[in-house]
Order: sequence, then C-alpha cells, then structure tokens
Amino acid sequence: MQQQPQLFKDASQHALADATLRTNFRGAMDFLRNKRERVLDDAEFSSLSAQCEAIKQRCLSQLPALLEQLETRCQANGIQVHWAETPAQANEIIAAIADGCNATSAVKGKSMVTEEIGLNDYLGARGVECLESDMGEFIVQMAHEPPSHIIMPAIHKSAAQIARLFHEQLEGVDYTEDVDTLIGIGRSVLRGKFRHAHVGISGVNFAVAETGTLCLVENEGNGRMCTTVPPVHIAVTGIEKVVQWLQDVPPLLSLLTRSATGQPITTYFNMISGPRRPGEKDGPEQVHLVLLDNGRSNAFADEQLRKTLQCIRCGACMNHCPVYTRIGGHAYGTTYPGPIGKIISPHLLGLDATRDLPTASSLCGACEEVCPVRIPIPQLLQRLRAEYRSDEEGVMSGAGGGRSILEAGVWAGWAWACEHPGVYRLLTWIAGRMRSLVPWLPSAWKNGRTMPVPAARSFHHRYQQRKSRP
Ligand code: SF4
Repeated sequence: MQQQPQLFKDASQHALADATLRTNFRGAMDFLRNKRERVLDDAEFSSLSAQCEAIKQRCLSQLPALLEQLETRCQANGIQVHWAETPAQANEIIAAIADGCNATSAVKGKSMVTEEIGLNDYLGARGVECLESDMGEFIVQMAHEPPSHIIMPAIHKSAAQIARLFHEQLEGVDYTEDVDTLIGIGRSVLRGKFRHAHVGISGVNFAVAETGTLCLVENEGNGRMCTTVPPVHIAVTGIEKVVQWLQDVPPLLSLLTRSATGQPITTYFNMISGPRRPGEKDGPEQVHLVLLDNGRSNAFADEQLRKTLQCIRCGACMNHCPVYTRIGGHAYGTTYPGPIGKIISPHLLGLDATRDLPTASSLCGACEEVCPVRIPIPQLLQRLRAEYRSDEEGVMSGAGGGRSILEAGVWAGWAWACEHPGVYRLLTWIAGRMRSLVPWLPSAWKNGRTMPVPAARSFHHRYQQRKSRP
C-alpha cells in the first residue's frame, strides 16, 4: 500500500465528515479503554510500567551487542538470520527465500513490519499469493484497504460492512451480521490455505538474545498455524524488538496484552526456537529471521528519539488519543497511525513527508499516561515540531525543509515587536480597534474553530488603569 502522509489534512477532513466511521471508532475505542481499565489498576500499572521502561532502556542501551548475540544464538538453533537496511532489501531477501522453495503461496500472521515494507504487493507482483490469516487483516485485505489500527486492523468496519464484504467477495456466502458465523466463514476459508501454503510469514513481538527465541503473541491460533504448518517460516521484525534475557519477557507481555486489548493474557503465546528437529512431528523445515532497520538506527543514534524504539506496539496510545478516535487510522496515510505513528513515521518516511503529523495533537498527554513503556510522546512531538521548523540539519531526512518564509517572517516580526514595548502597545491598540473585522478574515484555521476576537482593551492597559485608581 502506498503511504501518503502528505495528504493528511485533506484525509482527516474527509474522515471527520464520515459519520459512520466516527461512530465505529468511538464505540470501539470506548470498549477497549473500558476493558483496559478493568484489568489494570493505577498502582500496578505504575510499578509495572516503570519496570518495563527500565527493561527496554537497558536492552536499547546495548542494542548492537544484543543483536549480534541474537544472531549467534539463532544460528546455533538453526534459524537463518538476514539483515535488511531498507524495505527494498527486506522484500528482496524474503522473495529470494520464497523463490528458493518454489513458493507460489504464503500465509501471513499479523505483522506491522511486513505492512511497513509493503510485502504483500511485492510478493504478489512476483507471483506469490500472500494471504493474511489474522481475521482483521483478512477483512482489510479483502476490502483492499490498509489496517486502520496496529492491533485491530478492521476496527473501522461495522458488522454490517463486514457482512456485505463477505457476501460480495466470498462465493456462496449468505448475508449475515452474526459475528460468530462471519468468523466461522473466515476460518474455513483460511484453513484450506494453511494446508497448501509453501511459506508462512509472521512478525515477532520479542526476540530473546540470550536464547535465540522468537516470541509471538496472538489470539486466533493463526500465528501458530503460519509458523508450524508450511515447510518454511519467515519471521520479520524491526531491530528494536530484541530483549536481553528470557526473564525480560513476562513483565512486557503482561502489560502488552492488558494495554492492547484488556486481556490478562493472550490465547496463544508462541516461543519459536528453530526448525523441526529429528523426531519432532511438526514444525517447519526452515526458519528464517529478517531483521529490518529502515530508519531505526537513526533514531537509535539520538538519545531522545531512541525512546521511540521502546514501543511494544500495544496501541493503547491510539485508543486514548482524542485525534485518532475521531479521524481513525487511514487518514494518517502511514503504516503506524495515531500518537506512536506521529513519532516513528518521520524516521521511516522523512520529516518533509510527515510534516503535518506532529501538529495533529492537542498535547493532552493521554498517550504518555497510558504507555506501558513510558514513551514521552508529547515531548517528542514538540521536538519534531521544532526540528521541522529549524534551519539546522536534524537526524532525519528532510528536517528543516518545512520552514516557510512567510511563517518565519511572522514569528521574527512578533519576536521583534515583543522586544519593543512601544511597538507592541501600538499593535495591540490597532488590533483592539479592528476587532470587528476578525470574523471576516480569511483563514483555513477557522474551518474547525471559532476565531478569538482581540479584547477591546489589552491586559496591560487594564492593569495600568487599575493601578492608577485611588
Ligand atoms: S507508544 Fe506506548 S502506548 Fe503507543 S503503541 Fe507504543 S508502547 Fe503502546
């Protein structure tokens, strides 16, 4: 799918005008937030999130060494490790593996990294049909849409919309809005595909350096099917998913599931430690791990932006974001929408392309409050806003490119006026006299807001008057 964050402003206007979309998101986000609240009390969240933040920061502080250790341990377990600096390299590696086993079909478990690299389209163009097996991903793939949420890809769709989709796209399926029946239909389609797929593709939630173990969290069992039934399993993940020890996983897992879906634990937790061994009855003959950089090293090199790599992709920040809950995920035009998307997309796509995303926030702080690894999202948004307007070279491609001469001139004039009290008083006096013109001034800013009218008398003027009263 093509990523188009440049169209964010238009796309968000469009989303706001869609009453059905707003209703779907409002209901879904309220549901998820209530579920999370029921399983996480403040005291436990506070101590566990401090622990998880410390784990992620420790692991990130030794990221290069841990990645090397992960590679060594995985290889010792029989897992073939591949490094990809860019999405193009990752796609080439995966396509070469598929070519090597003459694959024409692949089943895929839920993986945002494969969305990030556009794997389905790439493999499809090379004659490998890539079928999504997570129910939400299956639905959006059928609708030719990207996921709108990193945990629940089809959350923007109502039961009626899914019923219509199944009825129109799947042969012999009657229209029904019964959710269990719809899930049953989807599963029966997928089950046949699992049996015949040549390759299974999955993401990774945690890659344990000490043991060379790939941990995969899922609810539907499709992840286990993808990683055990086809003869070849390819796991694709970002380099930030490495953790040092196996004992790092339980606290992270505990907060991941509760923050994401309000579940105390997921239905399936897979620990993959290599291909099928002699005497074992199932499992793939080959396991590959593709480790993707795609801008993560740039973030790693910057002490403040490195915090973005702490993310465990739970989606809680999205569920609590007043912007995301109103416009949904597609408007962002990026693989990762919502608050987390606003701070990682600039690494992936460059700051020029994502210029409007950091500004789409009220900086209310809800995202930081619910983040299980305490990423200071509002501070990072402010940093990105400042970097975008700065003339200096930043760590991201495109930094500085958004400085508008007009805007820079307005702010420079404002700063100069503030340093010259006589000019400032004159300007505020003029603004007060012209206040009746404000409602008619043309400005896109007024589309969703009421323009504040300058006071008839400035605060300074009133203060002076009050002071001079006997
Ligand atoms: S930033 Fe925090 S809350 Fe948002 S997805 Fe990542 S871990 Fe979850």
